[in-house]
Amino acid sequence: MLGHIHTTMPDIHFECPKCKQTLDAPEELATQLIDCPTCKETIEVPLRNQRVQAPKPPEPPKPTPALTPPAPAAAPIPPKSPAYQGISSSQGNIIIVLLILAFIIFPLLRSFIGAVFPQRWEYNVVAVSDYTFTEDMNKLGSQGWEVVSARRAAGQYESAKYEMILRRP
Ligand SMILES: [Zn+2]
Repeated sequence: MLGHIHTTMPDIHFECPKCKQTLDAPEELATQLIDCPTCKETIEVPLRNQRVQAPKPPEPPKPTPALTPPAPAAAPIPPKSPAYQGISSSQGNIIIVLLILAFIIFPLLRSFIGAVFPQRWEYNVVAVSDYTFTEDMNKLGSQGWEVVSARRAAGQYESAKYEMILRRP
């Protein structure tokens, strides 16, 4: 009866930590020291099958150090974008302010220049005969003269003419 129970107990499958040889051991040898049949080293029989535990070690530590560096690297970027947006919006404000100032200042600048450097006109007084009025006016106009004022004036021998003040820049 005892032998029967002994043979039905499951074996422990494990690797020899020295030579990596796959070994089987009866469960009653768990946690006990045996001599590896392949490399003759003294090894401990594990409590359970070890093949599942073997791939574990390489996994845990590395992902965390790899994740930490990106976080500090990503941190400096957020401060940059608000600063850039601040510059662009302030630049837009500056452009708008400059446009408004240009509309305000340009007329003021023109009147200021006009006060400092007033337009100098050249004046002329002419008396144009009624008979050659159109011809004479066109001739004076082609010379750049424009009429400032005109009045009907009586001349000698009871003749009447238009006496006009002309000016040109
Ligand atoms: Zn071994």
